Amino acid sequence: MNRFRLPDMLKEAVKVSPVPFAIYEFAEQKVKTVALSKGFLDLFCLKSYEEAVQLLDRDMYRDAHPDDVARIADLDYKFVANGEEYSAVYRNKTSEQKDYHIIHADGRRIHLQGKDNLFVVWYMDETQDMAGDKSRVEKMMHSYITENIKIGVMARQNRYDDLTGLPNMTYFLQLAEEGKKQYYLENKEPVILYMDFSNMKIFNDRHGFTAGDTLLREFGKLLRRTFGTEQAGRFSGDHFAAFTDSFMLKAQLDTLFDELKKVNHGNVLPLRVGIYADSFEPVPTATACDRAKIACDSERGSFRSHHVYYNSKLHEQTAQREYVFNHFKEALKKDWIRPYFQPIVDSKTGEITDEEALARWISPTRGMIRPDQFIPVLEDAGLLYKLDLYMIQHIIEAMQAKREAGIKLVPVSLNLSLNDFRSCQMREKIETCLKEAGIDKKYITIEITERALGQDPELLRSVIDDFHKAGFTVWLDDFGSEYSSLNIVDEYPFELFKLDMKFIRRLGQNKISRYVIECVIELTKKIGIETVAEGVETEEHAEFLRQCGCTKQQGYLYSKPLPLADLLALYQNKMNYKSAQKEKEECVHD
Ligand code: C2E
Ligand code: CA
Ligand code: CA
Repeated sequence: MNRFRLPDMLKEAVKVSPVPFAIYEFAEQKVKTVALSKGFLDLFCLKSYEEAVQLLDRDMYRDAHPDDVARIADLDYKFVANGEEYSAVYRNKTSEQKDYHIIHADGRRIHLQGKDNLFVVWYMDETQDMAGDKSRVEKMMHSYITENIKIGVMARQNRYDDLTGLPNMTYFLQLAEEGKKQYYLENKEPVILYMDFSNMKIFNDRHGFTAGDTLLREFGKLLRRTFGTEQAGRFSGDHFAAFTDSFMLKAQLDTLFDELKKVNHGNVLPLRVGIYADSFEPVPTATACDRAKIACDSERGSFRSHHVYYNSKLHEQTAQREYVFNHFKEALKKDWIRPYFQPIVDSKTGEITDEEALARWISPTRGMIRPDQFIPVLEDAGLLYKLDLYMIQHIIEAMQAKREAGIKLVPVSLNLSLNDFRSCQMREKIETCLKEAGIDKKYITIEITERALGQDPELLRSVIDDFHKAGFTVWLDDFGSEYSSLNIVDEYPFELFKLDMKFIRRLGQNKISRYVIECVIELTKKIGIETVAEGVETEEHAEFLRQCGCTKQQGYLYSKPLPLADLLALYQNKMNYKSAQKEKEECVHD
């Protein structure tokens, strides 16, 4: 680290002084230690001069009370950035001390060799000086607490996060921008890390917010120890960032993950770390942070701490997300999005009993964009309800076209997300559209994914209730994909369970998956709920499901999702999949 060099004689004089004081420099948005006195080393129980400088560079507030860090860090910043004088009182406990000591620090800006970014700070251990004088200690504590409250409130709105004492997002980005320049000067490759705990919400629910805060505070300390005081920041909640250089990064992360296991008496969560390295492409720090976050969010499934680099695949996905976000309005206006319809057939007769409407986005420049590429983007942006409202209108138009062609209507499933109900009066809107078109409610089935259970079970319950009161049928989609427990069966009054495709995928793999399907179907039969199996691709799947008593089936064996014209043609040519299958077989034999 480049730092101001005090003339040798002066530095030696400082080093031997028994008065506890330090000289600091403020450069590149960082406070750097220039010289320390022997008195300083003694006061803070530091063994050697070099070690002390290193420790301070790494984490200036290592031994300060966590509740005081944000306040003093903010005071320090104000002093070095603009102030002439400085006075702070805080609690400090070195590894050799049993209790916290009250430290009083007094500082002045000094002007030396034409530089005005140097500071001298004197330290006093008030606890020691006042030993035996109880009333003075109490007075001191009183003024300390008053000051703490007054300044603590101010610190909150400033540069430091008051829970962890780490720089907040705005300040961190400034520090990282400066740090990056320095790394380039030293021929090092800068990297930005974005960190997020997995399942923080569950941790808070289980252990309470106070325990959650303790974990975050302890983690803040670990980040300071690992990367240095001013090289890590807290963005919000359990989201943290750090900047460093790529040299030995893997080893640094391995140590971080190992140390994390010991934090908070081992009561911790797995950490996901996304990394953006400037070698991918030099970008402004804020963009690098966004990209590190994308990498961090890209692998959520793992139960172990891990890291992921931002790479070209994620870059392509990001471009796709941006395209979706920027062109969604235009896509609706120009009808680039439209429903495809996938038939759902009766297991026994092969007749089409229902259809599922699935959105397809056909871009004039990018071709077909799959729902998994645009639905999550719209959901994150709070725009999915617009798509679903658009879908209902187009589904109704398709029903009208069917009627004109003399085709009998069947209920069409509409996929809805819980967020739809937060964004608009979805049920009322669907009712109005149907009423205007003169179509009965029985022709629309609502599908809600099982993931909704993990998001907001109360809202889900009221949504089902509301649709039922209005006379709609509600199906549970993707049953068995994530959160399922058999309690759902009696706790939520769905009319039908759609078995997730995973069930069928596993069918060929072992006997247990056959038993699971059999059990689930048996249970639903007993309470009078119907079942649809999704992803039926082979005749063996179909036969097995028929024998189990699964009422309906959906999958490529019968048909892929079809555009309206193909769906109409399908109805006009073959109304029954069993007879269609038979016809095919007869042709082969002829
Ligand atoms: P989903 O509701 O579970 O839809 C079933 C998905 O499985 C569809 O994918 C369908 O094309 C696919 N599929 C059907 N049969 C088979 C098969 O035999 N084999 C295989 N491999 N796949 C099959 P798609 O159309 O890509 O939709 C993905 C998801 O996007 C849907 O999952 C649904 O959650 C969501 N989605 C689609 N359209 C809409 C919409 O209009 N609104 C909302 N909110 N979500 C939608
Ligand atoms: Ca569905
Ligand atoms: Ca599904």
